[in-house]
Amino acid sequence: MILKILLIAGVIAFVYFMFIKKPSVRDERDGTKAPPKVDDMVECCVCGVYAPLKDSILSSGKYYCSKECLYKGE
Ligand SMILES: [Zn+2]
Repeated sequence: MILKILLIAGVIAFVYFMFIKKPSVRDERDGTKAPPKVDDMVECCVCGVYAPLKDSILSSGKYYCSKECLYKGE
């Protein structure tokens, strides 16, 4: 009796893991989220242009793509 339950539980666990492992959503996510933080793109809060984090200007918690936008935004 106990063996039977264990066997069924084992089969369910096996199917469960196969079901969860099959979708490659996680792998795709890892692939797209691969770029390092230095190359992260941030949106300029004035003109909406995406600029690399290292080239953007951070002022009072907002990112600006250029000094022009910095002056416009403040
Ligand atoms: Zn801008």
